[in-house]
Amino acid sequence: MDPVHCGRMTECLPVTATRPTRAEISRSAMRHNLGAIRALVGPGVDVMAIVKADAYGHGLVEAARVFSSAGAVWLGVALPEEGVVLREAGIKLPILCLGGFWDAQEGIVVEHRLTPAVSRLDQLERLETEARRRGITATAHIKIDTGMGRLGLAAADVGRVLEALGRCSNVHCDGLMTHLASSDTPALEEFTNGQIDMFESTAERFDRAGVSLRWRHLAPSAGLHAHPRARGNLVRPGALLYGLKGDILSPARDGLPDIDVRPAMRFVSRIEHLKTVPEGTPLGYGCTFRTSRESRIATIPAGYADGVRRVLSNRGEVGVRGVRAPMVGRVSMDLTIVDVTEVDDASLGDEVVIVGPGGPSAEEFAAVAGSISYEVTCGVSARVPRVFVD
Ligand SMILES: *Cc1c(COP(=O)(O)O)cnc(C)c1O
Repeated sequence: MDPVHCGRMTECLPVTATRPTRAEISRSAMRHNLGAIRALVGPGVDVMAIVKADAYGHGLVEAARVFSSAGAVWLGVALPEEGVVLREAGIKLPILCLGGFWDAQEGIVVEHRLTPAVSRLDQLERLETEARRRGITATAHIKIDTGMGRLGLAAADVGRVLEALGRCSNVHCDGLMTHLASSDTPALEEFTNGQIDMFESTAERFDRAGVSLRWRHLAPSAGLHAHPRARGNLVRPGALLYGLKGDILSPARDGLPDIDVRPAMRFVSRIEHLKTVPEGTPLGYGCTFRTSRESRIATIPAGYADGVRRVLSNRGEVGVRGVRAPMVGRVSMDLTIVDVTEVDDASLGDEVVIVGPGGPSAEEFAAVAGSISYEVTCGVSARVPRVFVD
């Protein structure tokens, strides 16, 4: 196993000197998943790899390196801060800041050659002032709200955007984008088609005004899969790159190809304490569980501070030796108790799979927690070292 990891709390330690709880990240799975997406969209469409929120918990810099070397032509982050981390790590690809930037961040955006998604006209003016002061040209993508209702300029404001771009000689408009709100929902197909239509008519207005748009993009994972018309010339997958598809793809939809992506994260720990207790033994805070038979009870060094959500108390499962073992009692901050009575030969030191191959998928974990797979991988906390394998 490669000892390189980026557990933020434990960066100064070799991984052999940390407790045995970690998120194993498979570089080959991420590389494979990017390849599967590129094969699906074909040669006319490029990929922006979305690596916001620490690459959905998989490790920002290392994920960016994998995707850069595997053929992504853009990286997407939420915050300029994340873009700066990538630049400081030597990443050269263009980086889009999906959430734009906040007042007083125009300096770092321009200095680090980040491309913000611009959702307000005053942001264009701020970029212009900053770029002019430095005697350079900043790049921006214009974000149009076609139905997400979150960020983006109204399509009705396009005239004013074009005017402002005409005035801003130090800002280069390199792309037009929007974000699909419901591309994972077959029942909202008409809504999505309306978003795509509105985007296309907006792009035509840019064309007619003589603003040539190098990049046109609309689609996250679900959109690029279910709506080929939404691919523009650039797609913005996040989830699929990490092998998360169960919550967003609808294989039931007619004629949609499956896409072979693999989970890139295994959140694992080990049995660190094992005992046999008699029937009627209370377990954990509040004695919310009592054994109904003589039981083999294992304690694992991972709790809600690590991302083992407390809502899984007496409901979640882990994988041990390929068998599912229930969490019993309340999940506590640093420890979780598991009933391994049904696991043959369960032993001290056995690997325990909290999420990933060999245990519950992120989707299964999420279903019990009332969430989605994205929140599960993002929720593996900074205390857990990321260990990159293969
Ligand atoms: C997060 C995000 C994406 C990626 O979404 P997935 O569903 O993870 O593929 C794409 N575009 C924007 C604007 C986003 O915020």
